[in-house]
Amino acid sequence: MSRVAIDLQSGDVKQDDRLILGIDLGTTNSLIALIHNGVPEVLRHEGSSALVPSVIYFNEENKAVVGQTAKDKLTTDPENTIFSVKRLMGRSFNDVADSREFFSYEIVDTDTESLVKIKSGNKFYTPIDLSALVLKELKKIAEEKVGRQVSECVITVPAYFNDSQRQATKDAGKLAGWDVLRIVNEPTAAALAYGFDKSADGSRNIAVYDLGGGTFDLSVLTLEDGVFEVLSTKGDTWLGGDDVDKAITDYFISQGGLRIDRLKKGQIQTLRLLSEAAKKQLGQSDIFEGDFEGMKLVLRREDYRRLVEPIINKTIDLTKAALKDAGLDQSKIDEVILVGGSTRIPMVKEKLAEMFDAPINDTINPDEVVAQGAAVQADILAGNQNNLLLLDVTPLSLGIETVGGLMDVIIPRNSKIPSGAGRHYTTSVDGQVNLRISVFQGERDLVQDNRKLGEFTLKGIPPMPAGIPKIEVIFKVDADGILIVKAREERSNTETEVEIKAQYGISEEEMALMLIDSIKHAEEDVRIKALIEARNEANNILHATKKFLRQHADLFTPQQFDPLKEIAGELEVLVQGEDKDAIHDAIHRLDRIARPMAEVAMDDAIRQSLAGKSIV
Ligand code: ADP
Ligand code: MG
Repeated sequence: MSRVAIDLQSGDVKQDDRLILGIDLGTTNSLIALIHNGVPEVLRHEGSSALVPSVIYFNEENKAVVGQTAKDKLTTDPENTIFSVKRLMGRSFNDVADSREFFSYEIVDTDTESLVKIKSGNKFYTPIDLSALVLKELKKIAEEKVGRQVSECVITVPAYFNDSQRQATKDAGKLAGWDVLRIVNEPTAAALAYGFDKSADGSRNIAVYDLGGGTFDLSVLTLEDGVFEVLSTKGDTWLGGDDVDKAITDYFISQGGLRIDRLKKGQIQTLRLLSEAAKKQLGQSDIFEGDFEGMKLVLRREDYRRLVEPIINKTIDLTKAALKDAGLDQSKIDEVILVGGSTRIPMVKEKLAEMFDAPINDTINPDEVVAQGAAVQADILAGNQNNLLLLDVTPLSLGIETVGGLMDVIIPRNSKIPSGAGRHYTTSVDGQVNLRISVFQGERDLVQDNRKLGEFTLKGIPPMPAGIPKIEVIFKVDADGILIVKAREERSNTETEVEIKAQYGISEEEMALMLIDSIKHAEEDVRIKALIEARNEANNILHATKKFLRQHADLFTPQQFDPLKEIAGELEVLVQGEDKDAIHDAIHRLDRIARPMAEVAMDDAIRQSLAGKSIV
């Protein structure tokens, strides 16, 4: 294990002379910030806004453009302009199927259980690939500004993000060439920006009201001895400034006597932009007048307020629900802070002031407050704080090998020890009775590039079809840095355990080299990982297809099977190759043919199970 300086209060690691950036990776806009002369500063490209629209445009050569230029393409090339990627992070197709209409680009429907993919041109992208493009753009801004390479950062995420959404965010950072030291909750970052962690007077309760472009959330935090805890978080992932824009667009459409089904996608986008301009202007003036293709559109403040009110009322209801979840009465809240561009709508402050006795604080720019707080957290990590104590951490990540030679991290690096974590796995072959578990240490995506610590076999799993056994692998690192790995098949209660002296025998230099390597090879690693994942998916589907052909030979004619066999044959060849997009494409085509056939087989199975059963 390694000894490093750790902040007593936050548990953060100190090293000298580090520049760590803070990133707000937003659904609508993203920002990057640092601490300069002790003050948070949000960075921008010379002459442009600090808010980088989280939009990616792919041109005909599949080359990506990020930010305002990409946002401008929403009106002219919506199919290849990707927005709101954050909504897709760590999600499966099933999770987002209901909201597919919202996206103007193609979300690929292949294997509903695995993570979503997006198609643009002839390429397939994961949300991680796409977020990485935004994070790369932010890196460029930072490097241009500070005049040297930067690599370390913290990234904020909503408090309600689950593990896989957090992991996806980290992976995106890695792919963009960042070393993501920490994922921080957005409301916590906002509270840090206000410096509440430094106010020493006992405990404090803070309500963070965040109304962005497409999402609302209210988090109740409590601060005790400099440590924040999220007491509750309530929100609506489909409520925000976009809804206000949409209400105004509908108003304009009826005012102009337009028909929505006669408008082109681009025209609707133009109306949306006009509506957004109206919304911003009506925060200050009494009337908005605009022009749409020669037609005069007018919106008065009282009508605007009537459109906005139901949306703000929903946020107030959710705010009440969040307080209830936290078990706090509104009088127990010491401070309300405003986050997100949509809190500039005057009615937000009015309604919150009616509800709370506490001050409604928006002295820090609500667009920037999360990024500023991320920079504060980064500064704490960089060690520019007092109260240091020596503590032990795991210097490198610990994990096991999964199908295709991938490294699956169970305890991430820089975890305080003692520490423990577990994860579930299953078998990949029918009737498999033994499972070999190989334990590795390191930051690379392929185990072959990491350090092997040991391996053992879980024996005596009762034979079951592939995917049915439920095997939990548990890692525990004790205070002496000794790793104990346990594996247990839960259905049959079969168990094995080994002890590994994990961190000994590796020097600080070796460790540093491994870290540098992981950053140097990040792009290549992620590419290979994506290829292996595509191959794994293809192999699963080929396995299922063969089973299907065997089981239902009597239900279909050979001619009906032919197209299925043909694509399966093609896929078998592609799996040997290196082209992940071609693999996804074949999976996609195979799925389109197989699905209706599977439905026929299903209907037949139901008919057969009913046949011969008489209802008396
Ligand atoms: P996110 O956190 O989702 O990335 P932001 O916090 O950047 O979102 O908020 C973007 C939203 O804020 C957009 O809907 C935008 O129209 C809205 N917004 C920005 N400025 C104003 C303003 N002056 N008045 C009302 N809404 C605004
Ligand atoms: Mg935000």
